[in-house]
Amino acid sequence: MTIAVYPASFDPITNGHLDVAQRAARLFDTLILAVADRPNHKTPLFSTEERIAMMREAVAHLPNVRVDAFRTLAVEYADQQQATVLVRGLRASTDFEHEFQMAHINHRLAADIETVCLMADQQYTFLSSSAVKEIAAYGGDVTNLVPPHVAAALRRVYDQRKEATR
Ligand code: ADP
Repeated sequence: MTIAVYPASFDPITNGHLDVAQRAARLFDTLILAVADRPNHKTPLFSTEERIAMMREAVAHLPNVRVDAFRTLAVEYADQQQATVLVRGLRASTDFEHEFQMAHINHRLAADIETVCLMADQQYTFLSSSAVKEIAAYGGDVTNLVPPHVAAALRRVYDQRKEATR
């Protein structure tokens, strides 16, 4: 039985992440979407709990996928979960440099854990959580980029911020 972990910020989960998750769920027996809970890093837009709730709703139709948070190195977390695979997505050559470096570092840290990169679907190669936040912050339409409940959460957050600055 192969357990895979897809570690990321998911701030918030996009249709690009979801596409990778759906495809990875077909390749492995169990897939864990693991939210990086990094208290010392720059503040995310959504709290860890909010990100987890949005992700759970987004993958509710995938029986072999679960959502969790981690505060350690990704390989340490994978090891704790008895996972042997780290899943990542590759959008473009810019992702490649970063993913290549991460995969080698992780291999040095834990040689028994393999990184498997899935190519981004053509329609999502431009899609990132930061682009989605940028569009939503200016009131733009993100309905084709994220699940409907995530689009609603983004609208809520930015509407509240607008209200607060009035
Ligand atoms: P982090 O900021 O922790 O890298 P992200 O949530 O931005 O987290 O992305 C995590 C992983 O998901 C990376 O491997 C990234 O390449 C991949 N990813 C992000 N967006 C997409 C997308 N649109 N299509 C495919 N993979 C993606």
